[in-house]
Amino acid sequence: MHVFYATQFVLPLPQGHRFPMAKYGRLRERLAAECPSVQLGQALPATDGELALVHRPDYIQAIEQGTLSAAAQREIGFPWSPAMAERARRSVGATIQACRTAMAGEGIAANIAGGTHHAYADKGSGFCVFNDAAVAARLMQAEHARRHRARGPLKVAIVDLDVHQGNGTARIFANDPSVFTLSLHGEKNFPFRKEPSDLDVDLPDGTGDGAYLEALERALDELAHRFEPGLVIYLAGADPHEGDRLGRLKLTFDGLEARDRRVMDWAWQRRLPLAFAMAGGYGTDLEVTVQVQMNTYRVALEYHARWAARAGHGACATVTAA
Ligand SMILES: [Zn+2]
Repeated sequence: MHVFYATQFVLPLPQGHRFPMAKYGRLRERLAAECPSVQLGQALPATDGELALVHRPDYIQAIEQGTLSAAAQREIGFPWSPAMAERARRSVGATIQACRTAMAGEGIAANIAGGTHHAYADKGSGFCVFNDAAVAARLMQAEHARRHRARGPLKVAIVDLDVHQGNGTARIFANDPSVFTLSLHGEKNFPFRKEPSDLDVDLPDGTGDGAYLEALERALDELAHRFEPGLVIYLAGADPHEGDRLGRLKLTFDGLEARDRRVMDWAWQRRLPLAFAMAGGYGTDLEVTVQVQMNTYRVALEYHARWAARAGHGACATVTAA
């Protein structure tokens, strides 16, 4: 399974900054050590033209040159640096490459970061600079239109199970019937002003595994009734975990693994290519976040093996349980 990373770009953050930058490198290390069938590939930066499928050119330029206002920079939550700008581009690039790989017959592929769903067309927010899933969705639609004129437009479902609402994504696609935005999130969580997605599920504080999985089941049913995607982009946030500082929900490792399996199985049953990004994770213990993410990869490798067997080139996913 192909997994794309930009972990060489580590943001210089002030001491005590609450963003757990180290989790990306740690996840990459563990994937390399424990999952030999994961093929790690360096992400290429998204181009200005690709970013402009979603983002305003003046915003792209301000990120590139470090000329955002202090208030706009504060809303993102990271200080500007050349590494910040480069990492943001490559994180979008990684989701683009994961989508392309999944659609080219691999069935499933991933971005080791990404899921930056609080980014709007003209501003960043909540540790999100560019909206990787939105740019990738639009670009896959454009590439599909060039290759398969007769087949009609590619429809994309963005399944956002990060504990925070996908407000930027919801707004970007508010008037676009070719992209379905689904968000399950904590109702009392950031962002406090939510944007209407195609389907929003607000969950109360302390929602545990059982209620969460029931809500997910209903949401996927409704998605299936209302929309027929050709591609799924899945934001597998680790922050609904009970050990998360920002999460407010009370999902266990098993609950989150069941969540991942349900989404991946939903896509597999329909033979829909699926690209996933890691989105949020703010474990009091960083290893907890990374463990949730490792479990997501372990499930994904099972589905990758199914796609590989279907393609006839033999399953090669050696699954190493974490
Ligand atoms: Zn989050």
